[in-house]
Amino acid sequence: MKKDERSEKVLTLADVKTGEYGVIVRITGHGSFRHRLMEMGFVRGEKVKVIRNAPLRDPIEYEIMGGHVSLRRIEDRRVEVVPVTEEVANNYLFHGTITEETERILGKVGKKINVALVGNPNCGKTSFFNHATGMREKVGNYSGVTVDSKLGYYQYKDYTIALADLPGTYSITEYTPEELYVRQYIMEQHPDIVLNIVDASNLERNLFLTTQLIDMNVPMVMALNMYDELEKNGDQLDIDTLSELFGFPIIPTVSSKGTGIQEVMAKIVDLYENLEQHTKHIHINYGTDLEKSIDLIKEEMREHLDLSGAYSTRYLAIEMLAGDKVISELVGKFDDDGSVGKVADEQRAVIEKRYNEDAATIVSGAKYGFVRGALLETYTQGKDKSKQPAYSIDKILTNRWLGFPILIFFLWFMFQMTFTLGAYPQAWLESFFGWLGEVFTRILPDGIFKDLIVDGIIAGVGGVCSFLPNILILFFFISILEDTGYMARAAFIMDKLMHRMGLHGKSFIPYIIGFGCSVPAIMATRTLENRKDRILTIITVPFMSCSARLPLYTLIISAFFTQHKGLVLTAVYLFGIVMAVVTSLIVKKVAFKTERDQFVMELPPYRIPTFRNAMIHMWDKSVQYLKKMGTVILVATVIIWALEYFPQHSPQIDSYSAQIEQVEKDGSLTDTEREAQVAQLELDRSACQIENSYLGRFGKFIAPVFRPLGFDWQMGVSIITGFAAKEIVVASMGVLYHSDAEADENSSSLQNSLKTHVWSDGPNAGQPVFTPWVAFGFMIFILLYFPCVAAITAIKKESNTKWMLFTMFYTTGVAWLAAFAVRLISTLAF
Ligand code: GDP
Ligand code: MG
Repeated sequence: MKKDERSEKVLTLADVKTGEYGVIVRITGHGSFRHRLMEMGFVRGEKVKVIRNAPLRDPIEYEIMGGHVSLRRIEDRRVEVVPVTEEVANNYLFHGTITEETERILGKVGKKINVALVGNPNCGKTSFFNHATGMREKVGNYSGVTVDSKLGYYQYKDYTIALADLPGTYSITEYTPEELYVRQYIMEQHPDIVLNIVDASNLERNLFLTTQLIDMNVPMVMALNMYDELEKNGDQLDIDTLSELFGFPIIPTVSSKGTGIQEVMAKIVDLYENLEQHTKHIHINYGTDLEKSIDLIKEEMREHLDLSGAYSTRYLAIEMLAGDKVISELVGKFDDDGSVGKVADEQRAVIEKRYNEDAATIVSGAKYGFVRGALLETYTQGKDKSKQPAYSIDKILTNRWLGFPILIFFLWFMFQMTFTLGAYPQAWLESFFGWLGEVFTRILPDGIFKDLIVDGIIAGVGGVCSFLPNILILFFFISILEDTGYMARAAFIMDKLMHRMGLHGKSFIPYIIGFGCSVPAIMATRTLENRKDRILTIITVPFMSCSARLPLYTLIISAFFTQHKGLVLTAVYLFGIVMAVVTSLIVKKVAFKTERDQFVMELPPYRIPTFRNAMIHMWDKSVQYLKKMGTVILVATVIIWALEYFPQHSPQIDSYSAQIEQVEKDGSLTDTEREAQVAQLELDRSACQIENSYLGRFGKFIAPVFRPLGFDWQMGVSIITGFAAKEIVVASMGVLYHSDAEADENSSSLQNSLKTHVWSDGPNAGQPVFTPWVAFGFMIFILLYFPCVAAITAIKKESNTKWMLFTMFYTTGVAWLAAFAVRLISTLAF
């Protein structure tokens, strides 16, 4: 390819010697590289001094905006400059805006904008080019007329816009010489702006090429050409929304008449001068599986390649995953040990095996999903309904009236199956752990070790394990809904509703997963492009009542709300959802005042889910939960057990032991009398022991905090133990309220001891602790407060420490206030 004239004359920072000055003209390279440099202060018009530029030295040090920064040798070739003398530099101060002085220094150099015209054959590129440049290239209503690039100029104010009319292509891959040419032009010549010309009367096909340009992360303006055709067909397109979704300016044009050309040029200049406000770089979401592979390839590239900002690693990774040979070769040049290629090949094999389809097809399928999602939101077909850019099944599933009932049915079905199907394995596991406890009771000698194994580990972990089947089943169904492509539609129809809450439709999927476990739900927020949406979703997901809290609800509801079981449970879940909405609205108002960005909701192709895939995805989501059980919960159970087990002796405990001994020796009693007395004394002794234990002492210490809520110290302790994992709350209550039996949320004896438990001191001494209202307040507290350690760790990983701390204190504060409100209302009203 012949180089265009610019690259010969242009000076870069690499050409400026130590101690000399330059003023920045432009930065070439892909979007995020330029963005990074701009953040360091490398913007057009800014002056730079070279502090140290010795040959063979890397990095090179520069002074910019009063500070020192270093760039690597290959990076500085991407910064084009005009050299200035020291005198000029000393008198020149740049304040972020281009002044007359800047203009004088940069002269003509900064005023030339290189623009490449890219589009499908017959979208009107050459017509646009001819109209803009006054040249007479051949225009034809057939493809393949343009074989090479033609260069022409357009004068806009004092800018010279150099237009290159590239050959028309349907995509930018490696299949035809035209495609290769276009790609190479964009990647090697680095045009300042790509002008994507799109045939508005054939949007779905034309926008496919656009998705590739988005992947390449090039600065872009779109000319929506043949706009007259679109209007003639009676179609409607919400250009503003589309432009917001895509993140670049879109201008309607009729290039055969020259309409809109000037507006396009104005936008090009604005974008070039960074004056265009509404630009952002978006990512096309390729779905969990592909994104995971793309990330792995990208990571490998970061570690091994020095791409110098020339190419977007995401783009290279996507193309390598799709099996693009030319890109693989290109990357291979930078990759001495071929490790990136190896990872890409591996990932491609994984994906192809999983979907039983060629990787390139899967990638294009996802791209069309993006286009469909964007068009479904912005485009209404006029007369010719056959060209409607959505699957006909989408017309039903995303229908304004039918969509919701269908969604509610699926969700109802999913939760129903989770709990009815899950009940069987749950019962099996419970009896298994019960049996295991008995076996160990029999075979181990009495003593500390036996107590630890039976009461600590088996009872604690067993109680938690019995809940695993529910989680697995829920995740299995969620995976199936995701794999078929239905979840994306669900997100689509929830979008409007979620917007009212200040959230995005895509938050819907994490919320649903959150009913299973917050950890995979927090990880699922990665599909949200926008950081604000992501943070809002992350901090509100813990309010979706995860299944770990269910054992407690079951316990409390079966003990105190036998009449209205379903109603109360629903109320608790709804309470969590309402808190999520309120929180999201408040945090958005306070922390994120700016307007919500809109994003494309991809509508991936419908697929028949395979059992294998669903299992893989279920497993991915469950791993976190399993890890939590094996580590946090196990350790926490042992610690809690130890805290309530020690100390074993105190004068009072020993006096009970002495009494027991006496009663056992007492010959004046009948056997039954003696047994009854001993049993009573043993119960009293263990109650006394627990109260005297470290856990009991700590509970009494913090009791005042919970007193206003009507909670006794045992509830306080249970709450504290739940910090580790919410499942532990029930296990702790088992220990604290019912010291002679193993922790078991379904045990009716625990229910009974809750019902009969009374205040031992204070103004209410002798009255029951658990009134239905207190019980309800307790459930609300458990629902809202501190998500478990695992969730908190995930929040930190997916956002930052600040939001982690916020979630910890906010949720606990809200829990306290809500439980207090319940208490207040109940006392005032009843
Ligand atoms: P290219 O292949 O992208 O270079 O497209 P051309 O510029 O060769 O145009 C293809 C055909 O579309 C020609 O017949 C043009 O006259 C026609 N055309 C171009 N722009 C428009 C437009 O905005 N509206 C209409 N109705 N026709 C157009
Ligand atoms: Mg042409």
